[in-house]
Amino acid sequence: MSSEKSHSKGIRIAVDGYSSTGKSTLARELAQALSYRYIDTGAMYRAVTYWALKQGLFKEGHLDEAKLIAELALISLDFSEAKANQAPHILVNGQDVEREIRGAEVAGKVSLVARVSAVRKYLVAQQKEIAAKGKVVMDGRDIASVVIPDAELKIFMTADPEIRAQRRFEELEGKGQSQPMKEVRENLAARDLLDTTRADSPLIQVEDALVLDNTKISREAQLAKALEWAKERGA
Ligand code: C5P
Repeated sequence: MSSEKSHSKGIRIAVDGYSSTGKSTLARELAQALSYRYIDTGAMYRAVTYWALKQGLFKEGHLDEAKLIAELALISLDFSEAKANQAPHILVNGQDVEREIRGAEVAGKVSLVARVSAVRKYLVAQQKEIAAKGKVVMDGRDIASVVIPDAELKIFMTADPEIRAQRRFEELEGKGQSQPMKEVRENLAARDLLDTTRADSPLIQVEDALVLDNTKISREAQLAKALEWAKERGA
């Protein structure tokens, strides 16, 4: 790639990995350090899930997929402007639902919504459009494999399951939405299983991804590593 092109357009950075591996933290800090746009694609799946819950599309835990698919076009998603040290908030039809989408109810249902191919198609099209503008850090499960397969930098994040559960537990507690540790562990394990085994775009580690295992390294160290990789690739 010519340096002129990479300079004007910046690079596209894909961050994939299991739930609660710190993807969003890394992706947000990386975007901030590079003055890039940060897109949390998990928030988009969560927002659709929240909308489906509000519409009563879950009956006794079962999702009315046909109805969700028929009504997808009614869901308009946006991100608010990024503020200092704060990730952009997701808006569903103009309403800020950032707090609502992080709770246990949405977390318990989101993987059921994310396995619906029509939902993925709808969201992936929007994600590809944003990524095409360049200078972006996008995190999720299928970013390197489906959304930006030609991303200049692909990071795959992983961490010890017990550390992940502990982090998620503390995150929920900090938000005043605490859940027993046992339930946190079960939710993470269930989401990992659904996300890695679903038929459409399961979570995979692509061949050219760089692995970042943050079980033992600090937040600062992981950011420094990712920034180094980004700079090497023209960011
Ligand atoms: O990243 P986060 O944990 O917020 O994602 C919530 C859920 O959304 C995941 O468990 C997964 O089911 C789904 N997801 C997905 N593809 C993405 C991002 C998230 O299937 N690119």
